[in-house]
Amino acid sequence: MRPFEFHRPTSLDEALALLARPDARALAGGTTLVDLMKLGVEAPGLVVDIGRLPLAGITLESGSLRIGALARNSAVARDSVVLSQFPALSEALLSGASGQIRNAASMGGNLMQRTRCAYFRSHDWPCNKRVPGSGCPAREGANAHHAVLGTSDHCIAVSPSDVAVALLALDASVAIAGPRGVRHVAIADFYRLPGDTPVIETVVQPGELIVHLDVPATALATRSGYLKLRGRASYEFASASVAAAVKLEGGVVAEVAVAIGGLGTVPWRDRGAERLLIGEALGDAAVDRFCDALLAPARPTPDNRYKLDLARGAVHHMLARSRPC
Ligand code: SF4
Repeated sequence: MRPFEFHRPTSLDEALALLARPDARALAGGTTLVDLMKLGVEAPGLVVDIGRLPLAGITLESGSLRIGALARNSAVARDSVVLSQFPALSEALLSGASGQIRNAASMGGNLMQRTRCAYFRSHDWPCNKRVPGSGCPAREGANAHHAVLGTSDHCIAVSPSDVAVALLALDASVAIAGPRGVRHVAIADFYRLPGDTPVIETVVQPGELIVHLDVPATALATRSGYLKLRGRASYEFASASVAAAVKLEGGVVAEVAVAIGGLGTVPWRDRGAERLLIGEALGDAAVDRFCDALLAPARPTPDNRYKLDLARGAVHHMLARSRPC
C-alpha cells in the first residue's frame, strides 16, 4: 500500500473542502476502498474519513423516508419503518455480504461500491475501468458473471449493489452535496452506462459527497419485495435479482415497478415494459411479454446467456407473489 494523507473532518464543509483535491477519496465503512487500496487498484493521496459527520439518521417525514449516507446497512435493514413500509430495501440489504460487513458498510458506500470484475481487481490484466484505453479482457475471457444489459465494447462489468436495485424500483433519489450546495438526482439517473468511459460510474463529481437518500413512502412501496438468485446461499453477488412491487385493482395491474440486478452494467428498469402490464391480469403470457421487452436489449455471451432465463424466472416468481390467492 502506498503512503497517503489521512484526515477526519467534523463538518460537511470541511469534508467537501478536503474532497475537492483530485486525489482524495472518502472513507466511510471502508468495505470497498480499503480492499481496493490493498490491491493497489485505488491509490488515493488523501483519505477523508467521513465517519464523524452527522449523516446516519433514518427518518420518515413528509411522506418520504430519509436515509443518511452513513446509516449502516444493518441498521437500515432492521429499521421498523423500513421493514413495514419498504420491505424490498430490507430484503435487498440482508441478501448482501455478511453480517459483519453489513454492520460496517454505509448506504452511501453501498451505492458507490466498485465492480467485482476480477480483471478490474488484478494488475495482471488490462482493464478500461482501471486504466482507460488499456482494453477489456472480459469480453473474450471469463465472463459468466458479467453483464448482458447496458454493455459496451469497452466494458461489460456488472453493477454489484443489491440495494440500488430496490431503490430503483422504489423511485428513490440521491442527495449529493458539493461546493454549490446539495443537488438531488433520481436513482434512475445516478449510474452511468459504461459507453467509452467505463471509468466514470456515477454522476458524483470530484469534490462531491452523497449525504442522504430519499425514498417516497407509497402504497406500492409497502408491497415491495426483493429476490436474489446466486451461486451460493450467502456472501455472493447476484446472478440475477428482482425488486418488484405490484398493486392490483379489480384483478388487473394498476401500478407496477420492477427493477433487476445482476444483469446490467447499471441497475436496470424499463418503464415502457412496465406499461405493458398495466390493465393486465398477471398471467404467465402477460409476464412473458413484459420479460421479452425488458430483456430485448440484452447482448449476452455464450457463458452468461443463462442470466436471461434466471431473470425471467425471478420476475415470474416475484409477480406471482402478488396474485390473489
Ligand atoms: Fe475492466 Fe470492465 Fe472489462 Fe472488467 S468488464 S475488465 S471492469 S473494462
